[in-house]
Amino acid sequence: MRLEDILKSGAPELGVPLSENAVAGLRAYYELLMRRNAEFNLTAIKGEEDAARLHFLDCLGLISVCDLRNKRVADVGAGGGFPGWPVRIAEPSVDITLIDSTEKKVNFLREVGEELGLEASCIHARAEELGQGEARESFDAVLSRAVARLNILSELCLPLVKPGGFFAAMKAEDSDLEIKEAENAIKLLGGAEPEIREYRIPGTEIIRRVLIIRKIKPTPLKYPRRYGAIKKAPL
Ligand code: SAM
Repeated sequence: MRLEDILKSGAPELGVPLSENAVAGLRAYYELLMRRNAEFNLTAIKGEEDAARLHFLDCLGLISVCDLRNKRVADVGAGGGFPGWPVRIAEPSVDITLIDSTEKKVNFLREVGEELGLEASCIHARAEELGQGEARESFDAVLSRAVARLNILSELCLPLVKPGGFFAAMKAEDSDLEIKEAENAIKLLGGAEPEIREYRIPGTEIIRRVLIIRKIKPTPLKYPRRYGAIKKAPL
């Protein structure tokens, strides 16, 4: 099946509206991703069927479980642009910031914006450094997929979220242990207990779990720590 057909039948299953413009944008993004993959090592997924489902529909599902419209949103550890670029392509009112610590990936993320004619801030930085700078508590929502275990990831992401906003972590269906392990970190960083939302990625048997962690208190100034300390002694 063509990428366009998979997206047009899968998005309604997720309850996500997808314009013709968005479908064309995702096609252009896919072509660029495949062209640059060898050089930048952006994804292990090859072929349009798998990319349409395991990257695009997976990320579009986020729109069905959290309201991102008109919000200032960051994607921490965006890599090749997931979930941030598909979310921005499908929901143009999102003001997106894509963050990654690998410069060549950030250069690719910028190239996507130029090629598709879309605005995004693409920042080459470590999230924990941004969390101690101007970007601290400046986003309505922070998204992340496949970056770190939840206890570590929470320290990278929650300091960037405004009190009243939320952090949405894309995790696997069997993430109960990971959630338990992160309870203390989330509490210390000002987050509420995770709300679990799930969807099946259309055309697959994969259940995606999104953990929505609302920020109910400001993060204490001592967090985030430097990466060495976060890794050595997770909260
Ligand atoms: N989110 C993308 C996805 O789901 O396809 C990429 C996942 S990739 C496995 C993890 C990415 O996180 C890498 O591109 C890496 O450079 C980035 N990363 C890891 N730690 C980070 C940090 N502390 N701050 C910013 N980016 C980080």
